[in-house]
Amino acid sequence: MRTVKLTSVKAETPAVKSFAFNDELCSKGEPGQFVMVWMPGVDEVPMSLSMLNSRRGQAAITAERVGEATESLHNMKAGDTIGVRGPFGNNYTVSKASKVMIVGGGTGLASLVPLAEKLTKERTKITFLMGAKTKSTLLFHAHISDVLSRAKGRLIVATEDGSYGQRGLVTMSAEKLFKQGEQFNMIYTCGPEKMMQRMLHLTERFHIPFEASLERFMRCAIGLCGTCVIGKYRVCQDGPIFSSQQLLEVKDEFGCWRRGFDGRKIRV
Ligand SMILES: Cc1cc2nc3c(=O)[nH]c(=O)nc-3n(C[C@H](O)[C@H](O)[C@H](O)COP(=O)(O)OP(=O)(O)OC[C@H]3O[C@@H](n4cnc5c(N)ncnc54)[C@H](O)[C@@H]3O)c2cc1C
Repeated sequence: MRTVKLTSVKAETPAVKSFAFNDELCSKGEPGQFVMVWMPGVDEVPMSLSMLNSRRGQAAITAERVGEATESLHNMKAGDTIGVRGPFGNNYTVSKASKVMIVGGGTGLASLVPLAEKLTKERTKITFLMGAKTKSTLLFHAHISDVLSRAKGRLIVATEDGSYGQRGLVTMSAEKLFKQGEQFNMIYTCGPEKMMQRMLHLTERFHIPFEASLERFMRCAIGLCGTCVIGKYRVCQDGPIFSSQQLLEVKDEFGCWRRGFDGRKIRV
């Protein structure tokens, strides 16, 4: 565990803030990896790295306020201290795929921003699909537009209430493109598990390689406690990024069940 001082705190949406800090190890993390973030006296929770700048030794996390730990993080200011462990887990596979689709919803977009930045450097053609309930909860819209503009990428936004972009679920926008015959070498996704489950079904139907980043309750992050198990996998060690083949092996749990801190099954 290293203690670091927050260098900036930025409100992204009414319930989401980004927290930047200097840490050499985190700044060298790969897109898709996560850190355990400790709020002194409160709790330690997993968070994806949403910004990686190895040149400056900087990194950031982006957290939605949902409970005690994230509430305490949201109350922090620049100069306050948190603890970080990691980075942990595997990362998205970045190959020389010429045309990819990225599908993100909610705070799932956090791990997809560094991925889009890395793919842009590889000159990969990106179609980025971003989903939100309503316009005010759209996350990283301006930043992702800027990143994509550097490599002639395309951004498609879907809001459930139609207040911005296409009306409906982001998976409906993806399906429309597949049905129009658009080809992709790889699909990456992170967001609500039902959304990712739908993307798995679509990519199976249209025969496209697929990677999804999973979130589970996590305690140790080093494969010991078993809190984050899904089927035969531990999300902290075997993931958080899983391929379609792995997700099909755990299809009775993926998008259906997760485990609470007491190990009991909870519906996703
Ligand atoms: C690998 C990984 C990466 C993550 N990255 C991010 C991120 O970038 N940004 C972000 O905002 N959150 C992320 N999360 C989820 C984040 O860890 C939880 O929201 C956080 O632990 C909630 O803590 P809390 O004390 O504020 O809320 P709690 O009081 O613990 O929970 C509040 C609510 O959130 C649900 N919840 C809590 N933890 C999880 C979880 N792990 N999976 C699903 N539901 C959960 C609870 O069931 C409850 O309904 C990530 C989780 C994992 C496993």
